Amino acid sequence: MESAHIESDLVNILFTEEEIQAKLAEMAKLIEADYDGKDLLMVGVLRGAVMVMADLARCLDRHLEMDWMAVSSYGSGTKSSGVVRILKDLDTDITGRHVLVVDEIIDTGLTLSWLISNLSSRNAASVEIATLLRKPEALAMPVEPKYVGWDIPNEFVVGYGLDYQERYRNLRCIGTLAPHVYS
Ligand code: 5GP
Ligand code: MG
Ligand code: MG
Repeated sequence: MESAHIESDLVNILFTEEEIQAKLAEMAKLIEADYDGKDLLMVGVLRGAVMVMADLARCLDRHLEMDWMAVSSYGSGTKSSGVVRILKDLDTDITGRHVLVVDEIIDTGLTLSWLISNLSSRNAASVEIATLLRKPEALAMPVEPKYVGWDIPNEFVVGYGLDYQERYRNLRCIGTLAPHVYS
């Protein structure tokens, strides 16, 4: 049974709200420098990247556009399978645009490697990735995010956009769930 106060379902807090905001501000500085003089289209991957996109974009002191994609990777429970389907495509023609894909976590990298090759076939000027979290397994996939907040151990985390059965996305911190939540 989960508790009424969602933060009390966590056994361990990996990153506090303050740590997350500080990290996004650091990433934003790098992005500002790299994209200086270029037009920037940030593409958020629904639904998990909503929080990262909202806060990262607001750290950027420059003009930018935001668009969204929704993809489903078929798979059971907590693992993705590599079979990816577009549920919502971009509304923007990315021909000649500098695209920065914004995601909250790369685990196996299956979803993003598929997404990047899909976007790369659309004649963008550039396609790069910014992710708040990356798990070591992702190193096995051809996904090379230009901006990574933290590398984390191979544990299932929730909060700040990351869900367990669609819940916990609204936590301001990121942590691991207590065993009682799963049973
Ligand atoms: P990948 O394709 O890289 O294996 O993972 C893609 C998606 O799986 C992520 O965007 C995220 O939605 C989900 N995912 C991977 N690891 C975690 C995790 O530790 N916690 C949560 N809540 N979702 C995860
Ligand atoms: Mg995601
Ligand atoms: Mg999920």
